[in-house]
Amino acid sequence: MVLDPATLTVAFALLSAALGTLLLFSWALNRKVKALAWWGSAFWLIAFGIGSANIRQGQPAYSVLLVANALGLLCYGALYTGCRVFNGRSAPLVASLAGAVVWLGAFPFIYTSQSERLLLASLLTFAYSILSAWELGRYASRPLASSRVVMVLLLGLAAFNLSRIGIALAPTSVPWIDALAHRWSPSMALLLVVFGPSLAFMFLSMAKESVEFEYKQAALVDPLTGVPNRRAFMQNASDLLAQSGGRAVSCMLFDLDNFKAINDRHGHDTGDRILTIFGEVLARHLPQGTFGRLGGEEFGAILPLDSREAALLADRVRHAFSAAGADTLGDLARVTVSVGCITGTGIDAGTLLRRADAALYQAKRGGRNIVIAA
Ligand code: GH3
Ligand code: MG
Ligand code: MG
Repeated sequence: MVLDPATLTVAFALLSAALGTLLLFSWALNRKVKALAWWGSAFWLIAFGIGSANIRQGQPAYSVLLVANALGLLCYGALYTGCRVFNGRSAPLVASLAGAVVWLGAFPFIYTSQSERLLLASLLTFAYSILSAWELGRYASRPLASSRVVMVLLLGLAAFNLSRIGIALAPTSVPWIDALAHRWSPSMALLLVVFGPSLAFMFLSMAKESVEFEYKQAALVDPLTGVPNRRAFMQNASDLLAQSGGRAVSCMLFDLDNFKAINDRHGHDTGDRILTIFGEVLARHLPQGTFGRLGGEEFGAILPLDSREAALLADRVRHAFSAAGADTLGDLARVTVSVGCITGTGIDAGTLLRRADAALYQAKRGGRNIVIAA
């Protein structure tokens, strides 16, 4: 098979431009994911960069090499910026331009040496790939599977450029390995033709996954306290009961005491703060996915515990809440919670909650700030 480098250049440039356009189109459809605009621009920059440098056979002119590589480095700057913006962080103007600026400054001094040019371009590309992968790993604002795949692709790109640095310093005698250090070769073109669409596809997946994640958050998480809402709680409870296989399951119902009076006396904002504190106390004491805000000042928890264990755990939450409330409000007000606990086997979530509610009613009648296990 004979692969013509110029044909591959045209194919790669057109492919990159098409992928860039698709990413920009996706951004136009969903302006909230601004990273798509950066990533789409990155694909256009590399299309121009590689296209202009390699469309003609032979050694490119001084100005072509200067501009083409600067465009390539701007592409990596845009790639990195996209990763930061995706994580909800600021666009790093200096860092995204730095690679191209370093290239433009150094080029007059290294123009005559192919290995020095390769060294600098690979080093800068390596730095951007590592930075981008680090950004996605270190500052991820959402746990997305596609984001991890992009990290692997970027680390692959970093490793590729590291190997090019190695070949620039010490060429091997193996032709296909040394070909990786050429400015442009069929093997490099093929590599990029596979790599480009994979990266673009995963960027689109990241955008899609992040939008889905936000919808899911909105549907299942209580915005005030950040704990699962009633719908999520009922789902989790049903799952736990389905898996319990006849073992005991305990349900706890927490209701903050005299909360209306606290709101009246200290204001709704303080009331909100107290609800948040209670959510934090639950998150500290109970495993993720076992509790939720059922509505107003009422929270529920469901765990595979017997009645003694459940009552002890509920009592620990009760104490911790009073202590956390005292830390925030001082002597202003005393916040307490009443708890109704019920333990059963083979009962559905609705019935468990109704029985826990009856125990809670007893706790309120019994003077509040107590745990009643029915
Ligand atoms: P009890 O000890 O018997 O439970 O008395 P209570 O005052 O806590 O119960 P009641 O049901 O009379 O009042 C609940 C109050 O909770 C009334 C409502 O204004 C308040 N509340 C419900 N949701 C929120 C909220 O999101 N933020 C704030 N600040 N208050 C809320
Ligand atoms: Mg209530
Ligand atoms: Mg109450």
